[in-house]
Amino acid sequence: MNVRGIVAGEVSTRTVGTEYGDRELAEVPIRPADDASGAGADAVDQPTRVTCWGKWTESAELLEPGMELVVTDAERTEFRGEEGFSTTGDSYVVVEPSFLVNVTDIRSWTECPRLYYLNKLSGIPPNYPVTKGTLVHEVFGDLLRGRAVEESIEARVEERGLELGMLGESAESVREDVRKNAAAIEGWLEQGRLGKTDGGRETADVSAERFAPDESEWRSERLLISATFGIRGRADAIRGGAPVELKTGKNLRKEPRFKDKVQAACYALLLEEEGGEVDTGTLLYTKNSALERDEETGDLTPAKEFSMGSGLLKYVVRLRNEIAAMEFDRGVPTGYEGNASCEYCFEQDTCMVVSGRLDQESKAGQIGAALPEEEREYFERFYRAIEAERREVHREYAKLWEQSPEERADDDRALIDLEFEEMRPLKGGRWEIHARRRSDESSKIREGDLVLASDGRPVRGEAELARIERLESEDGGEVVLTADEPVEATRLDVYPSEFTTDRQLSALHDALLKGSERRKDVLFGREEPVFREVEETFIENNAAQDEAVRKAVGCADLALIHGPPGTGKTYTIARAIRAMVDRGDRVILSAFTNRAVDNALEALRDQGFTDFVRMGTESGVREDMLPFRLERSGDPEERARELREAPVVAATTATCGSRVMKETEFDVALVDEAAQLTEPGTFAAANLADRFVLVGDHEQLPPVVRAETGESETGAAGGEEADLSRSLFERLVSAYPGAGVMLDRQYRMNQRIQAFASREFYDGELRPATPEVAGRTLDDIAGASREALPDELGDPVAFVDVAGDAARHTDGKEAARIADLVECYEAAGVPRAEIGVIAPFRAQVGEIRGRVPDDVTVDTVDRFQGSSEEVIIVSFVATGDLEGPIFEDYRRINVALTRPKRALVLVGDSRALESDPVYGRMLEWART
Ligand code: SF4
Repeated sequence: MNVRGIVAGEVSTRTVGTEYGDRELAEVPIRPADDASGAGADAVDQPTRVTCWGKWTESAELLEPGMELVVTDAERTEFRGEEGFSTTGDSYVVVEPSFLVNVTDIRSWTECPRLYYLNKLSGIPPNYPVTKGTLVHEVFGDLLRGRAVEESIEARVEERGLELGMLGESAESVREDVRKNAAAIEGWLEQGRLGKTDGGRETADVSAERFAPDESEWRSERLLISATFGIRGRADAIRGGAPVELKTGKNLRKEPRFKDKVQAACYALLLEEEGGEVDTGTLLYTKNSALERDEETGDLTPAKEFSMGSGLLKYVVRLRNEIAAMEFDRGVPTGYEGNASCEYCFEQDTCMVVSGRLDQESKAGQIGAALPEEEREYFERFYRAIEAERREVHREYAKLWEQSPEERADDDRALIDLEFEEMRPLKGGRWEIHARRRSDESSKIREGDLVLASDGRPVRGEAELARIERLESEDGGEVVLTADEPVEATRLDVYPSEFTTDRQLSALHDALLKGSERRKDVLFGREEPVFREVEETFIENNAAQDEAVRKAVGCADLALIHGPPGTGKTYTIARAIRAMVDRGDRVILSAFTNRAVDNALEALRDQGFTDFVRMGTESGVREDMLPFRLERSGDPEERARELREAPVVAATTATCGSRVMKETEFDVALVDEAAQLTEPGTFAAANLADRFVLVGDHEQLPPVVRAETGESETGAAGGEEADLSRSLFERLVSAYPGAGVMLDRQYRMNQRIQAFASREFYDGELRPATPEVAGRTLDDIAGASREALPDELGDPVAFVDVAGDAARHTDGKEAARIADLVECYEAAGVPRAEIGVIAPFRAQVGEIRGRVPDDVTVDTVDRFQGSSEEVIIVSFVATGDLEGPIFEDYRRINVALTRPKRALVLVGDSRALESDPVYGRMLEWART
């Protein structure tokens, strides 16, 4: 039986005499998480004791109260009348099983625990060996899928043209390099085939043929997740149910390297959890085949097989436990935890520099002067906050198996019960998968998202990472996915990615450890930002916009442009970029979302400037900007030149943290939506340039932070996570008001609509830009007339009181009333596409969508930020204590109230809303 529970007290260890001699044991008090005690559900809260024997004491000693523990194949025991559990010879002890440790992290931990930490900090470095390794892996996958080797090499090198060009590599030399490595793969695959079916034939006879994988025997790359062992990873291949790992290095010994065996053993564990019996593992060292026998001595055979003993598998789980326990405390390894010799470590210099700069204890020692204390303290705080975010991502993983498919669908985390239709192979070895929806349930999943596509079982079934290419929302709507591997998808789950946390951590590292001293002096308040005088007038009819451009052009360090809704922020950005380019600056234009990047480019194009390139995926870039998209594939030199020579490069902040972008330099980084970015998220773009301009509005949506904001350990209010929820933009606006300009003339809203937001959020400084804007009403729309509206909607701002129905996330009465209102506006001549409905919960979004025509946009506040409509109707679903996302932060309501141009209707329960002073004032304004 498996025992799972939360550690409920201190662990005690001792040595006892047994019939086999002295043995170590550790006793762990736990509170079982389920009915493991066998005494019925009532016993769940009763603590019990688990005895861990032998080597498992090492894992037990890592446990602290509050951690989760799983013991597999445990047996029931009784000691002095007290019942408990004990490990058996088949048991595994797993610390914090919901923390899914990556297989490659276990491998680095084997080399040295500190190496694992260093890898986290600096991310995957932009260097040729890493890119070559990826290419060889891709070719391996292609060969397993039956692609011809030359065709694969040609295509894969072509696909990575930009990356190779930025590394200064030529296509021909890379192809040659990959070819040498691929020879090992081919030879080995041929051996397998000869041994299996073509024993008598000469190798020459078959060399021109493609490897034809036997599907029952082989599987190429495969994503594996273990809920029991808390491990996840992608096996390079599985042959006969056993893992095969590819290494692009050499190994002249008979046996595989220990760290490589550990990696293969992790996959063996993952495969065994799926019911397989794994007794071997294979490592394929591709460089062995590129070596000349007369120059090298040793075993040049590329493929090395080893037997998978239970001792190794248990060792691997103990290693994994060390990582999970350290991450529970968000600790920093010193290197003393392992046995590695620093003098043979490739990362010794980095290790010493990081230790020196951050004043960390390390086995390698320290070099260089430590960062000032405030910078180290800042690093530490943000490191912990980012790691707290990572834990939240892991909690999301756990929900993949903790929640039933229906619960996940109800939680908007999955689309279930799709009807699988077909799969088509695409050029380049990828697959296109078609399915149909059987319901129009809402979910967080959107086109362009990466999801886990599965046969209905995302953890133990067939599952692959896939990108959503098309997602029609209605019942019977088509779903199109692309994936590296085929999967008969009937379910899509939100994929909890650590991508953002990884990129934030490496941006934080680069900003503090590699950033210029001057930049840090300003960021840490030791020096004031400096501006050069700029005499020129850039925008004639708007003083604030003109000053914003002058600040952006004249800043030596940074400038801040505060752009409330509708104030022409995008126009100002485009004008500033043109002015900078005129002065010879190279600019990286970035924003949190693809939409904002494309909007800014559109403004540039409207101003007659198109000398830019757009970085991003085909599905992420808006159609009209695709002609400017920089293709990643092609001739390396040409691609790199296009990127290096473009006066303006545009990319999301996530892309700014990519390996390719880290190889580029700019004079200025101009970052839009900066108030929605965390400080490290902003650094991803700012690190690329000598100076930066942030544009945003800290009175609208703040950065999205998953971890709960709590008390920090020092007792200070807010806690570490609070650091992430405050943007760098907001911090700098308050630190350096003189470095910022607020755009104070809005071109969107009727004066009556803007009045409340101006007063509550912008100190009354926001004004209509022109009398025309101030006086705009629905009568200005061709064919529309306010006369045709009922009296209650006659004013540009209206409140419709609907008593709440006390349901938590939906309010049918409110939804029905909103459907009536939509009809009223339509009857008054407002086109449906000009009407937007904002609701606080996705469930209410679904409720309303079911009652209004398709061309009325209905969505949450977050989805509306950055857009506007002629008419906006806000559904509050307000009952009792004003719980819900829209009420969490007044800034959300600011976003909702500033979307309309000509009419705003608030629909909600007045008694509930009046219980809060801000909403009370809002009602007063809406009713007068
Ligand atoms: S230098 Fe030493 S402590 Fe640092 S990562 Fe390498 S082996 Fe570990």
